[in-house]
This record gives sequence, structure tokens and C-alpha cells, in this order.
Amino acid sequence: MNLLLLEDADFITTDRALLRGRRLQHLHEVHRAETGDTLRVGRLDGLMGTGKILQLGSDQAEIQIELNQPPPAKLPLTLLLAMPRPKMLRRVLQTVSSMGVPRLVLLNSYRVEKSFWQTPFLHPEAIREQLILGLEQARDTVLPEVIIEKRFKPFVEDRLPQLAAGSLALVGHPGEYPECPRAVNQAVTLAIGPEGGWIPYEIDLLQGAGMTPVQLGQRILRVETAVTALLARLF
Ligand code: SAM
Repeated sequence: MNLLLLEDADFITTDRALLRGRRLQHLHEVHRAETGDTLRVGRLDGLMGTGKILQLGSDQAEIQIELNQPPPAKLPLTLLLAMPRPKMLRRVLQTVSSMGVPRLVLLNSYRVEKSFWQTPFLHPEAIREQLILGLEQARDTVLPEVIIEKRFKPFVEDRLPQLAAGSLALVGHPGEYPECPRAVNQAVTLAIGPEGGWIPYEIDLLQGAGMTPVQLGQRILRVETAVTALLARLF
């Protein structure tokens, strides 16, 4: 936790907050914080700044807050991700949030196991929890938007062209395709496939919606590694 992220409910006055639970435990166990220490803080969907610990106990901490700095800019990106298996979903949500992705679409695909859609990790509260961990890691305050699309064809045919309009629209796909561009200077829509990869029919539909397949070399990367590698290369 590189940023103590505060929510509206934590504030007892405009510039004082009370902490309990996970974040308090983190202050004690990781930061080994003491009364009088100053921490980096942020307000969810708001500014960042500093917090001075006024009182630190085993059940709560009172912190004086000064917020004066905007959060970092997000990437100009919409990321489409074939729904990963639940364990990976949690990690990918943190990565996406840490890397500054403003909008994530979790998409069905032929090689996504149906059971993945039943996971409790897809509940809005569970998604939010992972996104917040990512924001705390990266020092950001603004939650990404997460859209769930359980029907591939209608999404790609009816919604994707509009979503991707005006952006560089790419689909990560290992094979004999152009190399993924580097350090682009424009908005991007990027699709990353499931563990088993996209099937040819899906690539055809994605191309029909204006997306170009690109590759990162011969090495087949895990989904979470592909997310990081593709974003690092593009931006
Ligand atoms: N056997 C699958 C295939 O050949 O497509 C591997 C899928 S990979 C585990 C999951 C996703 O990560 C892919 O669908 C692609 O979007 C992305 N990916 C992984 N390695 C890649 C590479 N070398 N080039 C481009 N995309 C890659």
C-alpha cells in the first residue's frame, strides 16, 4: 500500500479521517507507523496529498488530511479481456488498476470456461476490492470502469465499432502478424484473448469490427504477463 486510500465514509470532518480494519492493520504491521508520522493519502475519486497521524490505537487511527494533488493521468485505453480464470481475474484486476487502465471490458469467448462466469470474484464488491488494491499500489485514486459482456458476437458486432471508433484498435494474437507498435501517441482499444487463445472465427469478427491482430514475438505469454507487456510496449 503506497497510498492510503480514503473513502467518504472514513471522513469525520472535512480534514480528518478515522481508519479501522485492513488499512489500520497495514499501518501497524507494514508501515510500523507511529503517532505524528506523515503518510501519502488519497480520497477515492478525488485528490491525493498527505495525512498526519494524530492518534494511533489498536482499533482505530485518527488522521489529519491535506489533499492538494491530482491523481496521475490514465492511459488512453479501452482494454478488452477474455474472461480469465477466477484466480487470475483477481490479479489482472489489480494490474489493470495499477497500470492506469480507465476502462476494462471482460468479454466471453469460445475458450472461456462457462464456470468462470459463476465466480464470486465477479461480484461488484469483489471487483472493487481488487481495483482498490491496485490503486493503492500505484498511487492513484480513480477506479477504472469495468464492463461485463457475456455475449461475444453481439458485443463485437454491435458495440465494439462504436467503442473503438477513432482509436488504434488492436488484438493481441501470437502468429504471423505485424509486430505490436511501440510508444503510440493515440487512443488504443486492445483485445487480449483467453488462456487457450482466440479461435479463428473470433479473430475474423474482431477484424470485421476494425481490429488488427498484432504479436509480441514467438513467446506465448500468460494473460497477465501479456497485459503488462502489451501496455508497456504501447505506452
Ligand atoms: N495458445 C494460445 C494462442 O496461441 O493464442 C495462447 C493464448 S495466451 C496464453 C493469451 C492471450 O495473451 C492471447 O490470446 C494474446 O491476446 C496474448 N498473448 C500472449 N502471448 C502473445 C504474443 N506473443 N503476442 C501477442 N499476444 C500474445
